[in-house]
Amino acid sequence: MTTLKIWMNGDLVPEPDAKLPVNSAAVFYATNVFEGIRAYWNAGDEEMYCFRLADHFARLRESMKMMRFTVPYSDPQLHEAVRQVLTGNGLREDIHMHLVAYVTGAGLDATEPTGLYINPRRRGRLGEGGLRCCVSSWVRTSDNAIPIRLKSGSNYQNGRLATLQAKADGYDAPIFLNGQGHVAEGSGATFFMVRRGQVVTPPLSADILESITRTTLIQDLVPRVLAQDVVEREIDRTELYVAEETFFCGSGYEITPIVSIDRFPLGDGRVGAKTRALASAYMDLVRGVDRSHPEWRTAVYGRAGVMAEAAARR
Ligand code: PMP
Repeated sequence: MTTLKIWMNGDLVPEPDAKLPVNSAAVFYATNVFEGIRAYWNAGDEEMYCFRLADHFARLRESMKMMRFTVPYSDPQLHEAVRQVLTGNGLREDIHMHLVAYVTGAGLDATEPTGLYINPRRRGRLGEGGLRCCVSSWVRTSDNAIPIRLKSGSNYQNGRLATLQAKADGYDAPIFLNGQGHVAEGSGATFFMVRRGQVVTPPLSADILESITRTTLIQDLVPRVLAQDVVEREIDRTELYVAEETFFCGSGYEITPIVSIDRFPLGDGRVGAKTRALASAYMDLVRGVDRSHPEWRTAVYGRAGVMAEAAARR
């Protein structure tokens, strides 16, 4: 399998040439902000679609504002950079990208110079058979300490500690409680549960990332697929043990079922019907098999329009 080139400050470079100075704030303090974005190959359209790019760029800019640095690229330039990294690598398959804005200046207070790279990765589906999770004894960092709303690499040490503990204890992944003792999220995913038929997720004030997938479920998928609205409310730990279904969602996780928590099997211990329906509808939407919300999919090769015209002529 070919190694993929990285887009770094305007050039496509082999990975060993994508270098950062050891004294940079980026390397030493992980002074970066990033987005994890997926692009999906639609074989029928012969097209790659990136999902909700504009929303990812908007969140990147909010993270940069909170971190008090910026990068010298406009949204159209970021869009073009994403297109270049996918077309330049000739990609015609599902891809996960990290788009990372960083500070190369030294010191805790460095705000410049800055740079940006986009790292395309082949990454399969996660835990389709269902994850066995634990409630972590590590607490989600709070908005007044290391805000999770700010998507910085440095924040992920909290997730790393909890993930390694979960694996050492024989689980697949942790679920964080926040400082108030309510359910927050996973290490890199938003949490949902089905309880007494309702689809429930913690509120944005629960020390969670403002997830784009969460918004997609609230705005579109849950109402359309299940004919009900998502309830945003605090979730207590013990509710997890008696939920009918639970799942993680995120750009990377897509919709990943959770089948047990602290070894309590949920429902009948298998992937639940609502989770299964949402997971399959999500994949159809992001890949453009489901044509609704075309504004959420950015065509990378730009042939979809040409093909649609050709089909109309036939
Ligand atoms: N929470 C955290 C901590 C994450 O890293 C992610 C992945 N970006 C999510 C939630 C899900 O966010 P999104 O749906 O925007 O990918």
